[in-house]
Amino acid sequence: MPPDPIYMDHHATTPCDPQVVEAMLPYFTEIFGNPASLTHAHGRRAANALEDARIAIARFFRAQPNELYFTAGATEANNLALNLLEPGEHLITSAVEHKSVLVPAAELAQRGVAVTILAPDREGFIAPDSLREALRPETRLVSIEAANGEIGTLQALGDLASLCRDHGALFHSDVTQAAGKVELDFSVLDMASFSAHKFYGPKGIGALYVRRGIRARSLIVGGGQERKLRAGTVNVPGAVGMAAALRLRSLEMSDEALRLTALRNELWDGIVREIDGASVYGPRALRLPGNLNVGFERVEADSLMVAMRRFSLSSGSACSSGDRGPSPVLRAIGVSDEAALGTIRIGLGKANTVEHIGLLIEDLRRTVARLREISAA
Ligand code: PMP
Repeated sequence: MPPDPIYMDHHATTPCDPQVVEAMLPYFTEIFGNPASLTHAHGRRAANALEDARIAIARFFRAQPNELYFTAGATEANNLALNLLEPGEHLITSAVEHKSVLVPAAELAQRGVAVTILAPDREGFIAPDSLREALRPETRLVSIEAANGEIGTLQALGDLASLCRDHGALFHSDVTQAAGKVELDFSVLDMASFSAHKFYGPKGIGALYVRRGIRARSLIVGGGQERKLRAGTVNVPGAVGMAAALRLRSLEMSDEALRLTALRNELWDGIVREIDGASVYGPRALRLPGNLNVGFERVEADSLMVAMRRFSLSSGSACSSGDRGPSPVLRAIGVSDEAALGTIRIGLGKANTVEHIGLLIEDLRRTVARLREISAA
């Protein structure tokens, strides 16, 4: 029997914590009512659970419960946030955003919204000066992610947000990769999107935070759920699971961030020390704790991953792994196409240990050497 594979792709998704599953279970079978069915006890019990979950999630992010709107995930929340724009208005976003921002932005551009895509610096940061220069009188919304899911860059959200506030533009952040991993201050944001499965919660539930007083525009219409912003029966077990996951994160997050940063730096230093021609992309400080993005000269990432079956690694963001081209994020920070095709993304999480780091460095060292021998032959 081959040994169990070791999961190191926590940016794509995380395992649901068993305590989260336990918290969710009664909401599939016993407390199964429709939270909109307020005429009977079954519905009211579900509605109470949903509102308790909303309160717990809001508390974690220091928001108000009525500022949170449940969605099916961050993709939907990002689409919903951008749907606020009308033809003639201006949107500013960045080249390192997730596709669930960039694709709706491209569609808005087709429908008469002016769209500016800011370029990052070589570490993936969006310079506040570049945002300042791009702001126009008709700029309605700026959307910049909190953390990049490929190279881990943590943006200076406070600085970017205050420029927007001074200018009178709204500031949205896709905080999907940062939520539950690093401290976030929603008080500087006008809108924020996140998904529970990135922080040890269930898949299929996310939320859009919309600061009180801002009117977002619905994307999915029908019933009057979520104060008419998002029609459709809310996923009650999912919301309960998201709240349970964040309760756990509030206990674990800060220690885990320190532990994962130390493991990640050990991995970084070990790879650079043991393997010739290795390049790490993204910043050393102001980086997601468990993230590393590394490429090896003369080695293709796809061949490397096929050869390294013991580890579940990624050659980019899972959502782009259908398109086989070089990563747009790496291109945007100035990495050549050839080098970009050689990079792998490592996403460490709760279950990873120092032993895993040693095994990974050793396996990478041997595999990179073997692949180079094969390609030289
Ligand atoms: N934004 C970012 C930064 C992400 O990493 C992801 C997931 N890869 C999403 C949005 C979309 O999340 P979901 O697939 O849960 O809708």
